[in-house]
Amino acid sequence: MTTTRCQCNCGHVQFSVSAPALLRGYCHCTICQAFNKAPFADISLFRGSDVSFPAPDTVAYQAYKKTPPAVQRGKCVVCGEPAIERLKLPLMPEIVVIPSESVKEAALLPDPSLHIFYHRRVADAQDSLPKYEGFLSSQWAFSRRLLGALMSGGRA
Ligand SMILES: [Zn+2]
Ligand SMILES: [Zn+2]
Repeated sequence: MTTTRCQCNCGHVQFSVSAPALLRGYCHCTICQAFNKAPFADISLFRGSDVSFPAPDTVAYQAYKKTPPAVQRGKCVVCGEPAIERLKLPLMPEIVVIPSESVKEAALLPDPSLHIFYHRRVADAQDSLPKYEGFLSSQWAFSRRLLGALMSGGRA
């Protein structure tokens, strides 16, 4: 299995992934906007078991309790940039969300396949990807694709 190194902008947070992302998309929610200090986030989702996590003292985790599912968002303690998020969904394996730009091996990144929380957008996206508006519709589109990827991905 090939392992690819990932890192935050400044390089302090180092971790690696050993399998391609399950899903990649753009999230326009206000939490992502605030967390990334950007109009939207380009995120890739990996199976938790495919990720070797960064050293705990390099990341400051923050829990966003208002949003189900349980999300832990980790920022680099040095550059303060988003580094890694851990998502625990009921009845599913742990999912890890990584800013797509952190993954240095393009082969592990599929093309983005959707926009979610598009009703929160700051600017219109100039592409033909499906755009989901509203909380439920966004969550549903995302979960359905994630589940599909998990089911078809097989077992390592
Ligand atoms: Zn950093
Ligand atoms: Zn978001």
